[in-house]
Amino acid sequence: MDFKQDFFEQLPGFYETVAPAGLPAPSWLAWSDDAAVLVGNPQPDEQLLQQLAGNQRMPGANYYAQVYSGHQFGGYSPQLGDGRSIILGEAIGPNGCWDVALKGAGATPFSRHGDGRAVTRSAIREFLVSEALFHLNVPTTRALAVIGSALPVWRETLEKGAITVRLARSHIRFGHFEYCYYSTGGKREQVQQLADFTIRQHFPHLSCDAAGYRQWFVEVVEATARLIATWQAIGFAHGVMNTDNMSILGDSFDFGPFAFLDTFKEDFICNHSDPEGRYAFGRQPGIGLWNLQCLAQALTPLISSDDLLAALTHYQPMLVQHYLQLMRQKLGLPAPAGEASGPEDLALFGAFTAMLEQQQLDYSLTLRQFATLDPVANHSDLRDMFVDTSAFDHWFTGYCKRLGKVDNIEQWQEARRLNNPQYILRNYLAQKAIAATEAGDTAPLQQLYQLLRRPYDAQPGCEDFARRPPDWGEGLIMSCSS
Ligand code: AMP
Ligand code: MG
Ligand code: MG
Repeated sequence: MDFKQDFFEQLPGFYETVAPAGLPAPSWLAWSDDAAVLVGNPQPDEQLLQQLAGNQRMPGANYYAQVYSGHQFGGYSPQLGDGRSIILGEAIGPNGCWDVALKGAGATPFSRHGDGRAVTRSAIREFLVSEALFHLNVPTTRALAVIGSALPVWRETLEKGAITVRLARSHIRFGHFEYCYYSTGGKREQVQQLADFTIRQHFPHLSCDAAGYRQWFVEVVEATARLIATWQAIGFAHGVMNTDNMSILGDSFDFGPFAFLDTFKEDFICNHSDPEGRYAFGRQPGIGLWNLQCLAQALTPLISSDDLLAALTHYQPMLVQHYLQLMRQKLGLPAPAGEASGPEDLALFGAFTAMLEQQQLDYSLTLRQFATLDPVANHSDLRDMFVDTSAFDHWFTGYCKRLGKVDNIEQWQEARRLNNPQYILRNYLAQKAIAATEAGDTAPLQQLYQLLRRPYDAQPGCEDFARRPPDWGEGLIMSCSS
């Protein structure tokens, strides 16, 4: 890999250099060829293994931990920073640069009471979800590899240390700006320095002046709105939407106790440490706005309050518009002629998910059924999924009315197939792959990863991956400890 060091060279004071502690007896547990392409296609050989395990120096790399803060569960934490992630620099790829970070590489100046480590379980989860979201067309950071080791690490029990090699277009979070703002008592200099860097690197069409800053924040608001609309449409709960886990580019970022919905449940909570459901599935749109308001506050030295408030008003319409677009694609509804059908379509989708929730149906599997639906000739396979068929019939009548005439049913079904995945990363599937890996067999992890690379294609012999979870695996709630 070839590196450049723009963050390191241009933003001294925004990080601490750090030496990785290394991993004893490292081995590859997972490797993404797709992600490797992004950084010039390095080969997973022994030398790269030792380098990414932190045991040997990577040529051209600097080793640093970024400083940031953030609002966690609604309260401000003045100093967080990379407590268990070490960034090597920006790897130069064929289509742009990607930060390479070793997550779990040992303590940093920001580790506080933590050990700077990640365990096999959490490293695999981050790897799988990064790649799964990418193949579902959800903006996300990526994962190049998981490196396992013999290192004992204590969590609730004794586990093994591991590293996820994360690739990110940027690691800059909302919390970076909050740190600049609050640690300087609201002075302009650092906020501007970081904004200028962000704009030059990632918003090169904008200028670093008043008009550019204003437009930049509009684009951050809109990217965040689109991201969260995508999560809602795909049925993804992030689990820890603290502002330090919000990417300034609107990528899904920093995964912990995330979940894809099994049974549709609006107030589904996937995080064991969130009993009040601050980050429940259905609250994500509101939390996205809350987080943007925190960011806006941190940008007050740079952008007028009026402009910040005006930009925030873009959030809800953008989220709704994008959600409508995605759901129309899932259910096969044509784009409407005018704005008028927005509220009607939203009501139609809301009635659909409410019906799934009432009848305890699986979100993704029900939608996948639209790939074989013929609304006129045969809708019995879909209808048979519902217990209360009269509720379904009522909804379906409205749906057919809105759908109108389908000219080419094969084409229509094919488009539904490409918008409704057959395979999603259900927590119980991840758990099974993790348990096998922990017991020394990585084959189930490989199989699951390969499956998630083509989530829309029915893959022979993989029928069991496209079923509802067994009782033990339904709606699993994950602990934050990772
Ligand atoms: P997270 O909940 O993963 O977003 O982490 C919140 C903060 O805690 C970040 O500053 C992390 O770097 C830090 N952190 C989480 N786990 C550890 C750990 N095992 N050791 C050190 N710092 C950690
Ligand atoms: Mg985090
Ligand atoms: Mg984290």
